[in-house]
Amino acid sequence: METLLTQLTSASAAAANLHTHATTAALRRQALLGCQSLLDQIKVAQARLMADATTHRDWISTGHKNMADWLADTTKSSYGDAKRKEKLGNALGQSPDLSDAVASGQLSPDTAEALADIITNPPPAATPDDISDLVAATKGATPPQAKAAVDYWRDQLTSETEEEAETRRFAKRAVTTTIPADGTSTTSITLPVLHMRELLNAFDHAAGKFAEGDTRTNAQRLADGAITLAKLYNSGQVNGGRSNPNIIVTITAEAFAGLTNQPGHTPWGDRISAHTIRELAKNATLQRVVMAGDSIINLGRKVRYASHDQYLALIARDGSCRWGNCTTPAAWCDVDHVQQWANGGTTDIDWEWLLCPHHHTQRHLPGVTIHGNANSNTRITLADGTTIQCPPKGTTHHKSKHSKPPRTAPPGRQTTQVA
Ligand SMILES: [Zn+2]
Repeated sequence: METLLTQLTSASAAAANLHTHATTAALRRQALLGCQSLLDQIKVAQARLMADATTHRDWISTGHKNMADWLADTTKSSYGDAKRKEKLGNALGQSPDLSDAVASGQLSPDTAEALADIITNPPPAATPDDISDLVAATKGATPPQAKAAVDYWRDQLTSETEEEAETRRFAKRAVTTTIPADGTSTTSITLPVLHMRELLNAFDHAAGKFAEGDTRTNAQRLADGAITLAKLYNSGQVNGGRSNPNIIVTITAEAFAGLTNQPGHTPWGDRISAHTIRELAKNATLQRVVMAGDSIINLGRKVRYASHDQYLALIARDGSCRWGNCTTPAAWCDVDHVQQWANGGTTDIDWEWLLCPHHHTQRHLPGVTIHGNANSNTRITLADGTTIQCPPKGTTHHKSKHSKPPRTAPPGRQTTQVA
């Protein structure tokens, strides 16, 4: 082992001192191939070491859950990459054919990696000869070609029925979320393709089409759809056969009235700005809870910020999101004050309108101004000076050729609570 460490140290030093400048195209191409060959050799060596260390359970006493976890954490590299190295090492150990093909350069380590899963976890009907055939058939193949061969081979050999295959795929379903960094976190969703299509379709529909003045990427638009769907669910407008969930946010009366900007809190301890809570409240059912220290001394009646009649009138007048040609249905929209609540706006419907969650956010961006009241000649000027006409699109207004009817009838009012 000391020999190995000495070898690795000198190989590493040699790599660090490589002269990477070549004077001719032919030399540069040759040098690139030389680097690739070196990387390939190292990759195979590391894969074999990973499999070996895993077999010997070398992570025990390091405080990590397995070898890949230890390597990824220690070298600040990807856990997925470490797992793939381990799998490649296992496959090389299990299949002499694979090992020989890689050693002789007939299979690149990347292509071998594409075969690793099926070699370490073959269908029950597969024999060692079948594995040899597969390795032979993929010599000289690119990784995608090898993946395609694996799929074909699995279909030919597998004894599982379509139903069993579906069950196996469904068992892979997963939603995982990373630890938040810089105030965002990434959720990864693994689903059978059909379910994924359903999910993406739902995001797509909830997001609505691109509207004029839209600078979002499609990825951002789909994310807006996901946000909208979550809001719809929370407001009881996605019918799942269960009662409507509430979000409880506590805030002082002074902050709610706009006299201070003291933030409120969710039951999970998230700080929510007073401004955000005042915005949320426009679309929520409110319940006043008067506290003295930790004791509740009075519970108020549940009330809506905008009355139900006012809300029905807004649906009739606006029909859908008022922003340009956005067609997000009225039932999916937020009530927004054309004039800011804190600046003396009233709940009179002349000064209220409906905006979809995305445009509600856009409307509150710095430099965005609204002209006119909510009834007539309403325009939005964006920070870059673009002006967007925002006519009412509902049944109480004559439809211009630019406005489209809402897609669905509103099923009901939101019941999110801000207590
Ligand atoms: Zn909109």
